[in-house]
Amino acid sequence: MSKTFDKVCEPKLKINYTYDFGSSTYLELSVMNNYALDVPEKILLLSRNEPLKIMCATCNKKPALNICTVCMYEDYAFYCKTCSKKHAEECEDFNDYAEIPVVNSPRLGTCGYTGGTIDTERDGYYKR
Ligand SMILES: [Zn+2]
Ligand SMILES: [Zn+2]
Repeated sequence: MSKTFDKVCEPKLKINYTYDFGSSTYLELSVMNNYALDVPEKILLLSRNEPLKIMCATCNKKPALNICTVCMYEDYAFYCKTCSKKHAEECEDFNDYAEIPVVNSPRLGTCGYTGGTIDTERDGYYKR
């Protein structure tokens, strides 16, 4: 624990990381390469995955904007705006507290996570 991350971050290094021990998300990271960058920020986002193409479970025509964090354990509980309103009529939990936005993160649907703030263009749902 006496070395900083930049001193041990070498290609082929594999890291297993558990975020949040209550509602854990398990990440496996691999260092592919090192780059010498001259940037003023201490942390710089170099790359980001595009939002997954998650479509509405009910109509399957529009991208899903919301997930029901209660129904997601038994169903594919992703809904577009219109179908979110329909689901709210039949699911008291969704209407009350279980509706959260679809976000571009491994934390989607976990512990009320509603998205990041670094790359707001890609933090949200899939856009055609
Ligand atoms: Zn829909
Ligand atoms: Zn529901």
